[in-house]
Amino acid sequence: MQSENETAEFLSILKETREQLVYFKELGVERIEGESPVSRSMETAVRQAETSVAESPGPQITGGAATTARAESAPESYTSDSPASSPATLFGDLAAPPVRIQKSSESFEEIWADIGDCTRCPLYQERTNIVHTDGNHKARLMFVGEAPGADEDAQARPFVGRAGQLLTKIIEAIGMKREEVLIGNVNRCRPPGNRPPTPEEASMCKPFLLREIAVVQPDVIVVLGNTAMKNLLDIKQGITRVRGQFQDYHGVKVMPTFHPAYLLRDPSKKKETWEDLKKVRDYLDTAPKRET
Ligand code: SF4
Repeated sequence: MQSENETAEFLSILKETREQLVYFKELGVERIEGESPVSRSMETAVRQAETSVAESPGPQITGGAATTARAESAPESYTSDSPASSPATLFGDLAAPPVRIQKSSESFEEIWADIGDCTRCPLYQERTNIVHTDGNHKARLMFVGEAPGADEDAQARPFVGRAGQLLTKIIEAIGMKREEVLIGNVNRCRPPGNRPPTPEEASMCKPFLLREIAVVQPDVIVVLGNTAMKNLLDIKQGITRVRGQFQDYHGVKVMPTFHPAYLLRDPSKKKETWEDLKKVRDYLDTAPKRET
């Protein structure tokens, strides 16, 4: 007979597997490189496991189904014997939060008035619009990219093109709505030919983003892609090494992950992005909600 704890753990694995399946379906992932087709294998595992629970007289679990579900859903860092599975390891010491950046009482409108018809860096020359940070000014979760693209430049809103639509799906996959979060870029003007902004261009524009962060004080910032990560965090290592590991920005948790535009080019990386975003979701579920 399995204990109630084991049953609860098993049901939690089932829930996680089901969520991952929904995420992959949402994002249109049919197959992860080196694995069987996502939807079919995972759906089969979930169905088998659910059936075994439903048919069980008590908290008994069919070990084979449980093993299958865990094997296909849980990354190594989530296995129970891994040190990375403890919340303290994943999120830092939650009992002793670091000193946060000073709360600012200025408004976004005041910050944008300071930006004005900005010519502080060369990117002003080819822009149509300055693309300001968009969304909930009391958000617990913020996304930061590198700079606007053509669609964003035309509409004066961040992440509205194909990559933006994918970002919206990713946000929904962790159970949130786009209107609940805040979305911005390190640079607010479109670089010519969509080239990455230079560190000098980023250093001219970043102070405005930092002022917005001080106003909102989100619990987590997700930095999207290598350029945004390096420009925000001043990290030497690349995104492939750092992604999935919480960083600190003056007391705010920062999760680096792949840029949605990169996921459009290489859909197999959606799996890693899902793992990163699950850590964000779990942290937000665990961290005490701050007063707004
Ligand atoms: S990218 Fe930022 S600093 Fe550069 S011109 Fe645009 S608003 Fe000004």
